[in-house]
Amino acid sequence: MKATVNEDCIGCGLCEGTCPDVFSISDDGVAVAIEEDVPEDAEDSAQEAADNCPVSAITVE
Ligand code: SF4
Repeated sequence: MKATVNEDCIGCGLCEGTCPDVFSISDDGVAVAIEEDVPEDAEDSAQEAADNCPVSAITVE
C-alpha cells in the first residue's frame, strides 16, 4: 500500500494525528506521506486518515 497527499491539502493535521507513521506536516504547512510502502500495521490508520481527510487529499492504494 502506498499513500499520497495531493495539492488540495489544507494542513489541518488530522492525518498526522490519526496515522503519524505515514503522514507528517511539512515545513510548508501541508501534509506529506512517507515515500516507502505503508507499514502493514499502519494500513488501517492510513486508510482511516484518507477517509477522514476533510478535502479528500489523501489517496491510499
Ligand atoms: S487530513 Fe487532509 S487536509 Fe488535513 S493535513 Fe492531512 S491531507 Fe491535509
